[in-house]
This record gives sequence, structure tokens and C-alpha cells, in this order.
Amino acid sequence: MTEPMPALFVSHGSPMLALDESGAHHFLKGLSRRIGRPENILVVSAHWETGAPTVSTAQEPETIHDFGGFPEALYRLRYPAPGAPALAGETAKLLEEAGLSVSREGSRGFDHGAWIPLMLMYPEAEIPVTQLSIQPSLGPQHHYRLGQALQPLRDRGTLIVASGAVTHDLETFFRSGFTRDSEPPESVDVFAEWVADAVKDARLEDLLDYRARAPHAVQNHPTEEHFLPLFVACGAAGTPLRAERLHNSKAYGVLAMDVYAMH
Ligand code: ZN
Repeated sequence: MTEPMPALFVSHGSPMLALDESGAHHFLKGLSRRIGRPENILVVSAHWETGAPTVSTAQEPETIHDFGGFPEALYRLRYPAPGAPALAGETAKLLEEAGLSVSREGSRGFDHGAWIPLMLMYPEAEIPVTQLSIQPSLGPQHHYRLGQALQPLRDRGTLIVASGAVTHDLETFFRSGFTRDSEPPESVDVFAEWVADAVKDARLEDLLDYRARAPHAVQNHPTEEHFLPLFVACGAAGTPLRAERLHNSKAYGVLAMDVYAMH
């Protein structure tokens, strides 16, 4: 009996993660050696927001360059992995069995929350990939429920990659004129360590209520979309939550680049 695949939470940072040879860049490049080769990959990215859960049934998803003002070299990158319509179908079925309504989208490509981490982890782009959208208006509990419904995929060789950010205080970034190597403000460190402790101690109720209970939560997440994928990974882990913090570093002052594996 082989071990189930972990569910990952990956902080994807800035699109420059693809090119900058940062600590997080090198960590992601080595991560596939640690987790092996999945049958297929389901990405739940902060950059696909819809009203209801939606899966992509695209056969040959395009690489979407959904960012502006970056160097030309980033716009030339492509991640030509095949789509995974069969996995999209399995995903939809599991969500429907859990009482969630699901839409299917036939032409949705890979956003940068999906393709940039995957380009580092699996540069050959041979493993089929599909995406499931998030619903920012529905909050942490809904995303935890999505993850719970997806848990059986881990036993079928699917790697779930929830892609967001542990911290995402872009207002401070723009106001402070931070650059790539800026020291993080205390609010970033304190929040990231609160999350790490809550995950390590499996304090799920604290995590689900992070906006009220975590220090500097609203400052680090003025909007929730980059934090919500964490709850999908937690839900896919099952109970009690068993998680490893595989990586932590900071970029651009305000972006904690932490990666977690939920088992
Ligand atoms: Zn992002």
C-alpha cells in the first residue's frame, strides 16, 4: 500500500518567483524529489475566483500571464502540461457527493498561481494538471469543506496544490517602496509564526477564525483570496490535522513564502 499524496499549501509570492533565484525558488525546484511523481495534479489557486466551485475540463490549457508590469521574459514563459479532464470530472463528482454545486469550464488555462510553482516543481510539464476555483465571498469554512471533499483524491495518486500566500500585504508593499530583499515588517513575521504554530498544533478552530484571532490578520490579508487555499489543504488533510512546514522565507518584505505539506 503506497502512502497517500500530501496536500500542499504553496505560497506563490510574486510572479518573479519564476526567475529570481530566491530561497523559495530553489526550495520548489527540489520539492518533487521529496514528494515523488503524482499521477496528476489538482491546483486550487488564489487567482481563479468564481461564485461557485468550478473545474477546468480543458484538454490543452493555455498559460495565462495574469499580471502586469513585469519583465518581458516572464511573458515568454509557457507551461505546456496537458489538461486533466478526467481528474476534473472526479473532482466535480466528489464535490457533488459532498452536497456542493459545481460548474465545468472547458477553456480555462493555468493562472500564474498554478503554473509558476509547477514550472519549478515539475519543469518537464508532462503530468496532467487541472484547476479548481476558489470562492472568496464564502470564507474559510467553505474552503475547508472543499478540501474535505477532495481528500479521497490523495489516495488515487493526485497531488493537491493549494496555491496562495501566508501573507499578502500589498498595501504596505506599495506604500513603503519595498524591494525584493526588504526586511519584513514585524506584522508579517508575527502573523506567519501564528499560522505556523496553529498549523503545527492542529488548532483548526483558531485557523478558521483567523481574522478575529490572529495578530495582524486583516493587515496581512485585506482581502482573503490568498489565504483561503490554506483551508483547502487543511480540509484535504483530514483530522487531526498533521502538517509539516517545509519551507519558510520572505520576499519583497510583505510576502511570507511558506510551504506546508498536509498529511
Ligand atoms: Zn498571487
